[in-house]
Amino acid sequence: MARYRDAVCRLCRREGAKLFLKGDRCFKPSCAIEKRGTNPPGQHGGARRKMPSGYGQQLREKQKVKRIYFILEKQFRNYFEKALRQKGVTGENLLFLLERRLDNVVYRSGFSTSRRQARQLVNHGHILVNDRKVDIPSFQVKVGDVISVKGNSAKNVHIEGAWQTAVGRGRPNWISAADKDLSVSISALPKREDVDAGINEQLIVELYSK
Ligand code: SF4
Repeated sequence: MARYRDAVCRLCRREGAKLFLKGDRCFKPSCAIEKRGTNPPGQHGGARRKMPSGYGQQLREKQKVKRIYFILEKQFRNYFEKALRQKGVTGENLLFLLERRLDNVVYRSGFSTSRRQARQLVNHGHILVNDRKVDIPSFQVKVGDVISVKGNSAKNVHIEGAWQTAVGRGRPNWISAADKDLSVSISALPKREDVDAGINEQLIVELYSK
């Protein structure tokens, strides 16, 4: 699968918002958005910013959400088609499908400090769902699933450090944690208020509905 290999902070600056792609650094003053503001990257970034058109806004919102969840265009489009077929509000359905991805749940639970790191943990077989190894980042969790870390991986300093950080920052309401044994259970499906408030999913629906 194609991967983005450039500096991820450029993605935040391109979208003019903190996308939290870099783990702990995103919460520190060294964050590129905190230090350099929301001007687009590049030598003339400051001069290039102008109010995008309606289509431009829709496109930027789609790019932003794709980048938050680290999803490529084709897969993102597939999620949208699936959301369209489901009952309820399409934009919210789309966000719920993204939230229920295993790599996102690993990040939200506090096994990692970023979704990128979470995807690596899943890909490398560190993550168990109901005591069985699942190495598919797009795996959709359901209510009642228990997510944990495989055997010795619980001693991994990165996982331990991320877990301690998560204890301080808190977790979404739909994820219940057993802090002592590094495991969480999915106690409910995510609600709209559990997803990042800065997303306007309606713009994405309008973009794909053209
Ligand atoms: Fe974005 Fe995090 Fe980089 Fe800040 S540190 S610009 S939030 S990726």
